Order: sequence, then structure tokens, then C-alpha cells
Amino acid sequence: MKIAFYDTKEYDQNSFLKANADGRYEFCFFDTRLTKETCRLAQGCDVVCVFVNDEVTGEVIDELVKMGIRLIALRCAGYNNVDIEYAYKRIHVVRVPAYSPYAVAEHAMALLLTSIRRIHKAYIRTRDFNFSLSNLTGFDLHGKTAGVVGTGKIGRIFMDICKGFGMNVIAYDPYPVENSGIAYVSLDELFEKSDVISLHCPLTAENRHLINASSIAKMKKGVVLINTSRGALIDAEALLSGIKERQIGAACLDVYEEESNVFFHDFSGHIVDDDVLARLISMPNVIVTSHQAFLTAEALANIADTTLENIENFFRDGTCKNEICYKCPQVNTCRQEHNEKCF
Ligand code: NAD
Repeated sequence: MKIAFYDTKEYDQNSFLKANADGRYEFCFFDTRLTKETCRLAQGCDVVCVFVNDEVTGEVIDELVKMGIRLIALRCAGYNNVDIEYAYKRIHVVRVPAYSPYAVAEHAMALLLTSIRRIHKAYIRTRDFNFSLSNLTGFDLHGKTAGVVGTGKIGRIFMDICKGFGMNVIAYDPYPVENSGIAYVSLDELFEKSDVISLHCPLTAENRHLINASSIAKMKKGVVLINTSRGALIDAEALLSGIKERQIGAACLDVYEEESNVFFHDFSGHIVDDDVLARLISMPNVIVTSHQAFLTAEALANIADTTLENIENFFRDGTCKNEICYKCPQVNTCRQEHNEKCF
């Protein structure tokens, strides 16, 4: 069994090599992303393993199927970069639904604390022996309201962390968790009442630019926005305007709408063409990490183990509990209808 890994870095390769210590699989690691131009690299493989910024479009799917690839194994939870409707009945797609929700929730809180306590500024100052406290005044989280959009695995852990800080927590989710004790409110109420808003929902066609000029106008002046989910949940230009108008107090971004050509690569010493990203990064109240929230030792080990387990299950009897199709989110009985398979 031969697996082609796209968009891999040293840390991915190390965790997969460790999970494959018995040599069950043959690995081909590519540092390039999967696109229509690079899919031919997987010639001779049985599986392609992809990450968040690989482009699994209809055209790519056709090419992979033609080459005899039988499975697309996502080594992440989100699958907005895969045309799963097109993949239906053409090629099976599996993912890693949870590898460490703690990693992402804890990173969201790390960004929040860094931002509001000005740690990113203080760190640079003290390294230069500048011990001045000017402009480093933060605010207490205790007693503030956190608005959490999406109360799945990561959202609920983030809510618990916020409660540990003595915050009031409200939430919005179109599919509320029953009997959970979560204080659900409408999205508008969440925008109006929250001092901190953290996004923990998947990106779908419906919620693209959930945070836009009109939703930003409904928010409290000085709100802190955290996005560790997917970049396109936020209209980046509207965010920039909100920051310039002082409506947004701070933004903590682990994801960015146009991240695919930039994130995971070293552009230091280069001229970055993306003016919006460059302007956002230049703001003293914006912190950007490059889709790093998942990056813990625990998460990497879980990603590698679950991905290889998904592949093993699929090739053993054609089923895998982590298979996804475009019907799964709407019809939870999808798999039962097809003998434990999506199709
Ligand atoms: P999950 O499936 O457990 O929960 C997602 C929740 O979002 C569900 O409760 C769902 O009902 C809700 N939801 C769906 N549509 C919504 C909408 N329009 N508005 C509000 N809520 C909505 O997923 P999770 O494991 O908690 O992950 C959440 C997201 O985090 C993923 O979709 C992924 O995009 C992102 N993520 C990012 C990283 C990273 O490294 N930055 C890592 C893992 C996951």
C-alpha cells in the first residue's frame, strides 16, 4: 500500500514515520500542495493524504480516479477544501474528526491572553532591555462575556477554559447541544453582548464571511475577535476596516482567508503581495499565527494514528467510521443506509 502525502513538513513526516514503525505502508512525501498541476505526483499510489490547503477540486478528483487512487485521506478535521459533493460515488473520503480539540482551544486562549495582556509587545521590549510599561495596559477577563460560535468539541473546551477565567459564556450554534446547560443566544445577541468572540464552527457555503461589515457593526466597540477555525469565516477587508475604525479592539487570527499561498512557508526576506494580510500584520492589536493551533505533540501523534487506522479499515472491508460525504452533515443516517459506507 503506497500513500502520497501532500503539503508535508518535517513534523508531519516524523509523526507518520513513527506511526508506521512496522513498515506496513510505503510513503511518498511531497512538500508541494495538491493542485491540478501536482496530482500526477501520486501516480502509482493507492491513497492521497491531504491537509487543510490542498485543493481537492472536481478536476483533481477526476485526475486521481483516473490514476487509480482509491481513497482521499484528510489528515485534518475540516474538509471545506474538498469538493465532497463531486467526490460522491467517485472516490471515498476519510478524515480525522478529532485529534486534540484541547490543542486548538488552548491556542485560542493563548492568543487571547497574549493579545489583551500585550505579551507580544512586552516580549520584544524586554529582549531589547526596554522595561517601560507604556501602552501595555490590558484588561481582566474575569467578569467579561465570551461569545462562542460553534459548540462542538473545540468550542465546548474553549467555553470551559473561559469559565475557568471567571467569564460569562454565551454561545450560538444552529444545532444546539440538548441538555448541555450552554447559554445559547441568537447570533445577533452574541455579537451585541460579547467582549470576546471566538469562532469554532466549520466553514460552509452558508457561513462564508459570517463576520462581515454588517456583523462587525453589531459588535461591542473594542471587541476581541479570535479565529482558529477557517479564514473565510471572516471577510478580511471588513475586519481591517473594523480595526481602522477602532470598532474591533483586537484580532487573533490563526487562519486567514487567503492563507493557502502563504501559510506554512518562510517568506521572510520576500515582498508579500497580499496587501490586506500585510496591513493586518502591521497592526499593533493583531496577532497572526499560521494555522498553528493544532500543532502539539499529542495532536500530531493522534493525526498519524487515526489516518493510518482509517486507511487500514477502508482497505480491510471498505468501511471506515470516519468516512465523510456531502450528505453526512444533513442526514446522520447516511452511513447506515449504505452498509456502513457513505455510498
Ligand atoms: P465539531 O464538528 O465538533 O463542531 C463544530 C460545531 O459547529 C458543531 O456544533 C456545529 O453544529 C457547529 N456549526 C455548524 N455550522 C455552524 C454555523 N453556521 N454557525 C455556528 N456553528 C455552526 O468541530 P470541532 O472539532 O469543534 O472543530 C471546529 C472547527 O475548528 C473545524 O471545523 C475546523 O475548521 C477548525 N479547526 C482548526 C484547527 C486549526 O489548527 N486552526 C484545527 C482543527 C479544527
